[in-house]
Amino acid sequence: MRVVVGGGTGFVGRALTQLLRSRGHQVTHVSRQGGKDRISWEELSRTGLPLCDAVVNLAGENVLNPFRRWGDAFCREVISSRVETTKTLAKAIADAEQPPRAWVLVTGVGYYCPSPTAEYTEDSPGGNFDFFSRLVSSWEAAALIPGSPTRGVVVRSGVVLGRGGGAISQMLWPFRLGLGGPLGSGLQPFPWIHIRDLTGIVCHALESECLQGVLNGVAPSSSATSNGTFAREFAAALGRPALLPVPAWAVRAVFGAERAVMLLEGQRVLPKRTLESGYCFIFPDLAGALKEIVA
Ligand code: NDP
Repeated sequence: MRVVVGGGTGFVGRALTQLLRSRGHQVTHVSRQGGKDRISWEELSRTGLPLCDAVVNLAGENVLNPFRRWGDAFCREVISSRVETTKTLAKAIADAEQPPRAWVLVTGVGYYCPSPTAEYTEDSPGGNFDFFSRLVSSWEAAALIPGSPTRGVVVRSGVVLGRGGGAISQMLWPFRLGLGGPLGSGLQPFPWIHIRDLTGIVCHALESECLQGVLNGVAPSSSATSNGTFAREFAAALGRPALLPVPAWAVRAVFGAERAVMLLEGQRVLPKRTLESGYCFIFPDLAGALKEIVA
């Protein structure tokens, strides 16, 4: 299969590219930077979609970049890096003489309203209560191609855990130094997925000819994981204590109140359709996932 991947140079994209190539697929990235096996967004708009069988979009400015102040300019970049890249790929698919068979977009579980008790499946309502839920709604809406023969799949991902990027790379050093701990009360749900399962689900979506619609990208046991449980298990995997809770005010001071919601609140999400579609998780449990990551 020839697969075009927007944002394929990033944390998830590198792992997905490796998995797809190991399964004999060819991968071309759409990127802001030139390079081997890459085209630019501008080139994509100008010359259209290269001949391919499937398209994936993983592009998005890192929302939790602690070095970027949460303000209007950064918000616009967070939105446009997701919504505009998705629109550009959707338009290229719609205009293609030979449209690809599959179109997969990775968004987030921020679609569902944070709650300590509610459990959400792919059929649950959401998408209209705060900045992030509305972002996911417009991101997913940008992917729609009415009347297209191309099969569309949206994977709503939880926090992606893996080596060399994402949340783990931001937490590794504080936890290694014994300075890590739960954020705020630590009671908030922590929806997580191992990177090999997220890329596995994307690959499953690309290769399963009848699959379409929303799939939740979270580990089956993640609905029972709180931020405090995660902190304890991560510290245990590293052989360190996790005694120091990070107070909510400190999280808000670093990230800004609106963005801190992502860390201080969470959703209990079930991968119901993902499991029903026949996907088998490699890392269903947190301890096993963390053991692989810190090994
Ligand atoms: P990365 O932060 O690694 O970024 C992915 C790619 O997006 C980058 O390599 C870059 O490609 C492109 N990108 C970054 N900023 C911009 C921008 N301003 N405009 C256009 N393109 C940009 O993301 P991940 O791999 O961690 O995540 C992939 C997708 O999954 C993202 O959309 C993310 O929101 C979503 N997601 C990730 C989660 C996680 O925990 N990691 C959780 C839930 C959802 P290049 O430099 O080549 O242009």
